[in-house]
Amino acid sequence: MIHSAEFIPPLIGGFLDQTREYAVICTDPEGAVVAWRGAAELIFGYSQEEALGMSLSRLFTREDQARGLDRHELEVARSNARSEDDRWHVRKDGTRIWVTGSIDAIRDPGGELLGFVKVMRDRTDLRTQQEAADKQLAACLAGRDRTRAFLRTLGHELRNTLAPLQSAGHIVQRTNQDPRAAKAVEIMFGQLDALRRLADDLMDASRFDTGKIRMELQPGDLAAVVRDASLGFQEAAAHKGVKLQALLPPGPLPVALDVQRFQQVLLNLFGNALKYTPAGGSIWAKATLEDGEVVLRIEDTGIGIDAQTLPRIFELFTREAGAADLEPGGLGIGLAVVREIVELHGGSVQARSAGRGKGAEFTVRLPAAVPHPNRQASITP
Ligand code: ADP
Repeated sequence: MIHSAEFIPPLIGGFLDQTREYAVICTDPEGAVVAWRGAAELIFGYSQEEALGMSLSRLFTREDQARGLDRHELEVARSNARSEDDRWHVRKDGTRIWVTGSIDAIRDPGGELLGFVKVMRDRTDLRTQQEAADKQLAACLAGRDRTRAFLRTLGHELRNTLAPLQSAGHIVQRTNQDPRAAKAVEIMFGQLDALRRLADDLMDASRFDTGKIRMELQPGDLAAVVRDASLGFQEAAAHKGVKLQALLPPGPLPVALDVQRFQQVLLNLFGNALKYTPAGGSIWAKATLEDGEVVLRIEDTGIGIDAQTLPRIFELFTREAGAADLEPGGLGIGLAVVREIVELHGGSVQARSAGRGKGAEFTVRLPAAVPHPNRQASITP
């Protein structure tokens, strides 16, 4: 290992001769170039002869010169000993380059200013990449805004058609005694409900991250809401040949709840469990208190979710191939709405699945409104 200080000047000299990345420029106290070393010629295009005596300001863009940034940089270095800046500079041929650099004020032992040393590096490549990434981001955000506007319009249009259809159904119901008509109207109302839920989800999805989804949180009982939702799905489950069981504690599970909003969560989670569980399968809804949280698990023995899709399952428009085969009509909006609403309740939601064909489990956690001793779940009829 070399220790002697005598090797330092040749090392520094060698660096200044060989570097192709760093320009090292020395100026007098007024900013006129007195040394033009390192990659200064390569980066800025001026030969040493041309550069000597030239004002450092020449390297600044016209706009920056007009704003006085060239003088400001020297002033800052003069008063703070150092100034660091990344900005566009101009080469001799007029092309612009993105340069990162610093300038140090050098003083003699008596404090007298000798001049400045500026070290600069051409990072136009980085800056170009960054600008391309910024443009891509802006395009993505614009695309997201267009998607939002589209979802909002679609939800709106859908809602507008529902009210007259509902009224027409009621008129048929009142004026027609034929049992076949009654059955047809019943089917119609069922489908209208599904469309209304879809319209609600579309409208909500268009408002994600905008702070425009309002929650009216009131003291509520999660057990009661889950019990009602599970009862509401019993008939459809029985019709499909799927067993649906709610395992709930005898007493309430107190949480701050926007009941209407939370019903949307349950309709999506129960609806999915039923949609993606073939006949002969089972669904369980379990709710308990665990360490200050009310925890709801909706578990099924259905088609499951593969490991690749699972991490993105709550993102808008995510659908798994198996699910698309089974239910071609889905949009991949419901779970995104579920996550948004649960989070607006101060909670979290997670999905688990051992893989395709191995069932799925969705766990919703909400802060318990009142501290409670742990209770065991029991089966309600
Ligand atoms: P949709 O059901 O309309 O496609 P969702 O956002 O509700 O939209 O669900 C997104 C995707 O998550 C579904 O397409 C499906 O791939 C998967 N998924 C949701 N719930 C389940 C479930 N219980 N079992 C298996 N896959 C599910």
